[in-house]
Amino acid sequence: METEIKKVVCSVCGTVSSHTVITKIQSGGVPELDLRPDGEHRNTMELWVMECPVCSYCNNSLEIPLDTRRRYLRSTEYTTLGGIETDNILVSRFIRKALVNLKNRNYAEAVKSYLYGAWVFDDLKNTASADECRIEAISILENSNLTDDDNMMLLKADLLRRTGQFDKVISEYGEKYFDQPFLLLASQYEVRLSRDGDSSAHKMSDIPGVEFTT
Ligand SMILES: [Zn+2]
Repeated sequence: METEIKKVVCSVCGTVSSHTVITKIQSGGVPELDLRPDGEHRNTMELWVMECPVCSYCNNSLEIPLDTRRRYLRSTEYTTLGGIETDNILVSRFIRKALVNLKNRNYAEAVKSYLYGAWVFDDLKNTASADECRIEAISILENSNLTDDDNMMLLKADLLRRTGQFDKVISEYGEKYFDQPFLLLASQYEVRLSRDGDSSAHKMSDIPGVEFTT
């Protein structure tokens, strides 16, 4: 992996701060069903979000404008992470990035941000808090048109299963057809795991009928 230090101007308060950004990374290994990467990429999560040291704005880049008033960054919702309790700095950044992207109506990015928060909690073996993040992501998916996209629809199956909502996976995906063969196999696998009551992480290469060459 190659990184560089980049000076970034915060679009909210104008402060210049330095951040490490990835300039080159090798993709490798097999991702999990929710697209959590393997290989070198897996352990770089702290480089996936920036926080302004002055106004505490969080986003992929601080150069992305905030589409609401600056005072939102001092609101109870923002400072208490929408009610998810944690003292982990990386999770708090991902959740604030999610909240900002909800304000910016960038719902796909908000879903991803909650998912990344869940991955950090997964690594900390904090299942209850990981569930809270996944449930927020599900809620955004169900209250937007994101699931018109088959990949997002399939991601929702994994979020439901990982939070133990097995009956919902079986009822929503048991008869669901996807045009792309890979998505159909993955969906059927989510249903099978749900019938087994399995809420653990699985790799794409575990899907029956799917072969990965890495
Ligand atoms: Zn700022």
